[in-house]
Amino acid sequence: MALCYWKPLSLLLLLQCLLSVSYASLGDADPNYRACVGECEVSGCVGQLCFPQCNSSSNTGPWYTQEPLYLQWQKWGCQGDCRYHCMVNREKERETLGQPPLKYHGKWPFKRLLGIQEPASVAFSVLNLAMHFHGWISFFIALYYKLPLREDKTAYYEYVGLWHIYGFLSMNSWFWSAVFHTRDVDITERLDYSSAIAVIGFSLIVSILRTFDVRVEAARVMVSAPVLAFVTTHILYINFYKLDYGWNMIVCVAMGVAQLLLWARWAAVSRHPSNWKLWMVVIASGLAMLLEIYDFPPYEGYFDAHSIWHAATIPLTVLWWSFIRDDAEFRTSSLLKKSKTKAK
Ligand SMILES: [Zn+2]
Repeated sequence: MALCYWKPLSLLLLLQCLLSVSYASLGDADPNYRACVGECEVSGCVGQLCFPQCNSSSNTGPWYTQEPLYLQWQKWGCQGDCRYHCMVNREKERETLGQPPLKYHGKWPFKRLLGIQEPASVAFSVLNLAMHFHGWISFFIALYYKLPLREDKTAYYEYVGLWHIYGFLSMNSWFWSAVFHTRDVDITERLDYSSAIAVIGFSLIVSILRTFDVRVEAARVMVSAPVLAFVTTHILYINFYKLDYGWNMIVCVAMGVAQLLLWARWAAVSRHPSNWKLWMVVIASGLAMLLEIYDFPPYEGYFDAHSIWHAATIPLTVLWWSFIRDDAEFRTSSLLKKSKTKAK
């Protein structure tokens, strides 16, 4: 998922992130690297190694090889291969000179596995997706098969719809995160960023509605409308105007910090029976942030800070859905108690 997920400690992190964005170009600003990529895109080779995708000028293949989309795909493939192998060579040279690894195009030099650019981040994204799916299914089962239902077969819990949408958006964003870390091109980056913003924005809405117990439909619309409008505008802005990493970071940090504070305040004042789960998630998310501050290069070429950050959210997702199930149970039982006392 995009770099901007859940971020408290705002100012410190913000500075760090802005710095790391500008720092990101150190590797690819290197003239040797640039010369290598430039040469490769023309010749299709880095040293003895040549890439078939770079020879798209031959107009002799089957019909689909003449399609613009196919040609574009080939261009990406060629550029990707050139950049990767130039980076590998450059990093080997640096290593023999005893120099530390550098970032290229905003990323550490990762080892590819089966053509996957960042295998660890992909694996952890898939696991996050799986945990969201499991959490969402068990929420669904608890709600409709374990807890009592109203006479019209609907659930008593008032936040059902919101958590369903949240589950869908979360799974969507982890899916695009896995795609993005598999192959980082313009379109996959935009899809990853956009779906991450969507889930952060939506979970901000959920946090406001849940922690302030907003149950009246009209009030919910009034609260969500400005957030939805802002999030939609922001997604359109980064997709069709400018993908401004610094500004995007500010937006994500602000929305992430806001919801963590809302949940923390609620955990402190409400007498929710599963308060401790809430505290655990809020504190652990804060601690996991430290991984993004100490953005270290990949260990053994695979495990960098970002991938460990994705690993850290896996147990948090399990705990979070368990809190959501508890909340459904808690609200249902208190609503039933109320209706029983009314009946007396
Ligand atoms: Zn990611």
